[in-house]
Amino acid sequence: SGAVTVMDAGAVNRALARICYEIIERNEGLGNLVVVGIRTRGAHLAQRIAARLSEIEGTRVPCGELDITLYRDDLDPNEQPTPAKGPVVHGTNLPESLAGSTVVLVDDVLFTGRTTRAALDAIMDDSRPDRILLAVLVDRGHRELPIRADFVGKNLPTSLDEAVDVNVSEVDGEDLVSIRKV
Ligand code: 5GP
Ligand code: MG
Repeated sequence: SGAVTVMDAGAVNRALARICYEIIERNEGLGNLVVVGIRTRGAHLAQRIAARLSEIEGTRVPCGELDITLYRDDLDPNEQPTPAKGPVVHGTNLPESLAGSTVVLVDDVLFTGRTTRAALDAIMDDSRPDRILLAVLVDRGHRELPIRADFVGKNLPTSLDEAVDVNVSEVDGEDLVSIRKV
């Protein structure tokens, strides 16, 4: 069986636009807001959100990124990703001190919550923001930690034998979210 489209480019764009207005509403403007994306695709979505927020409010919204993967890719290149190893933070590129700021953390898919948890640790190691909010394009369920997103593009109930493919134009040449059996 093939992949089923769940968000086309228009749906992705509208979801990101809505999330931007929700962020503005929640923060009563954009004072001290910093957007931080999780590489790879979350960082591209974060750049788009920061750019759109800057455009809407006429202020510069800084954007940074965190490099977190679900496996150690620094050892054996033939080694397969093993979620049981847990997410590993490879690097951070945060715009400035986050002290006193509201951080909007951005990722493409929220699943167990372990990547978010690693991101929260990395951010708190760096400095102490006033508040951290979470925005995801897709929430596919199956949380293993008490983590929830503040802003969700689409809630997508999935079974564990399904995979969600998130394509973003910056990497994949088009914006498309689809779901398929694995
Ligand atoms: P979690 O740590 O919540 O289990 O998984 C979230 C992270 O893994 C995100 O950074 C996301 O990119 C990736 N991920 C987990 N499940 C999926 C999925 O079904 N599809 C895609 N595209 N990414 C996923
Ligand atoms: Mg990811």
